Amino acid sequence: MSTNKTHIHWFGNDLRFTDQPFAVRANECETIIGIYVLDPKRIEYNEWGFRNMSLNRLQSLREHLINLEKNLGGLGIHLLVKYGSPSEIIPEYVKEHSASLSFMNEYATDERKEQQLVLEKLRGEEIYNYDGNFLFDPVNIDWQDNFAHSFSKFRKKAERYLRNKQYDLHSDLKSFGEEIRPTLKKSQRSIDNKTALPFRGGEEEGENRLNDYLFETNNASRYKETRNGLLGKDYSTKFSYWLSVGALSPNMIMRKLKDYEQSECSNKSTYWIFFELLWRDWFRHACKFYEDQFFFKSGTSEEIWTSRDSEIAFEEWAQGNTRKDFVNANMKELRATGFMSNRGRQNVASYLVHDQDQDWRKGAAWFENQLVDYDVYSNIGNWQYVTGTAFNPKGGAKFNIDFQSERHDNKEKYRNHWLK
Ligand SMILES: Cc1cc2nc3c(=O)[nH]c(=O)nc-3n(C[C@H](O)[C@H](O)[C@H](O)COP(=O)(O)OP(=O)(O)OC[C@H]3O[C@@H](n4cnc5c(N)ncnc54)[C@H](O)[C@@H]3O)c2cc1C
Repeated sequence: MSTNKTHIHWFGNDLRFTDQPFAVRANECETIIGIYVLDPKRIEYNEWGFRNMSLNRLQSLREHLINLEKNLGGLGIHLLVKYGSPSEIIPEYVKEHSASLSFMNEYATDERKEQQLVLEKLRGEEIYNYDGNFLFDPVNIDWQDNFAHSFSKFRKKAERYLRNKQYDLHSDLKSFGEEIRPTLKKSQRSIDNKTALPFRGGEEEGENRLNDYLFETNNASRYKETRNGLLGKDYSTKFSYWLSVGALSPNMIMRKLKDYEQSECSNKSTYWIFFELLWRDWFRHACKFYEDQFFFKSGTSEEIWTSRDSEIAFEEWAQGNTRKDFVNANMKELRATGFMSNRGRQNVASYLVHDQDQDWRKGAAWFENQLVDYDVYSNIGNWQYVTGTAFNPKGGAKFNIDFQSERHDNKEKYRNHWLK
């Protein structure tokens, strides 16, 4: 039972009001305040000479926040959006309101350190921090020194545990009073009409997509056959757009998927959506386990990974001006829309590190800048995997770009879409 009258929830990559682990504690209080803090570090210039976040991604984040503000406002909950250092801002608010605090743990280096600072400054206060947005909750596994370094080992463990899971949602937030009018200004993000991701941010739009992909169109029943596609919104789920900021939780997706399997169709494709969500989970576990090493240039490898860095080769790649049309089309799609298919990501990453011999961390930083579904765990984990510095028992994934473009774009429809 909470002894505080006010509860503060510090929102991070959990920009939703449904399926929130903190709701049960917050509901014991009389007032709740939501705070989102945009840390300047997230948009500053990085060591590679470009910003950590493009304007497009910033505007997309604003869309998610606008929807969250509206939904919380409907329950009489204020959402404050602040710009500054979380470890300065959060403790100030908690002390000013004599409030209890909750937040979801993050494991990437900077975010983890900020959260530790907050905990240190608020020692003795009532704080509820928890692991959220996992499917296979870390409380159910202690890796000790033996992290499952191959995805199949992880998947087997996770599947055994998840086989009978019900995917119940956390309790709803109660109403805390009169509706509060939103104050955030509307986003001006323009969406390219050629995009495969013609969606706006926010939980509501995420829920719509979930229903549409499963129940309205039955696309989920064909996912395994279409998932390597390149054009249009329906070759894959596009759930990453909402998952990356927590506008949907993996739990919300699995719950719907189970319903769909029970009432409509259960086949290899519906299983494969779950299978892909496990990849996402695996990289989160990996970062929690390896901490800073998750980000090392040589990853978890015992050998030193070297690269022959060239500004020109990197620029050609980032702008889509290489000798490979398939790479160029994907890089132009990324620049125009903030999205790229999984097939595209694998190919362009492989080209940068294996054909051009560039530092994968710079490629990952460019993805961080551009991708509207940027997720630190999936991004770093996949770059390490493709490079071969971690998580890949086969020691890397080098793609033959000509073979791949022939196989997945043999009529050049995709290349023409972005290059003509
Ligand atoms: C170099 C590289 C960088 C990547 N960076 C990111 C990133 O920043 N953010 C991100 O969300 N994904 C990233 N991915 C993984 C994957 O490409 C995207 O999750 C996927 O393309 C998103 O589209 P979708 O939601 O339609 O995926 P679907 O094919 O519909 O898959 C369903 C869900 O499963 C998960 N998933 C699928 N493939 C992967 C994968 N390889 N790794 C982890 N999770 C996966 C995602 O949550 C996805 O939403 C990266 C992959 C590569 C090769």
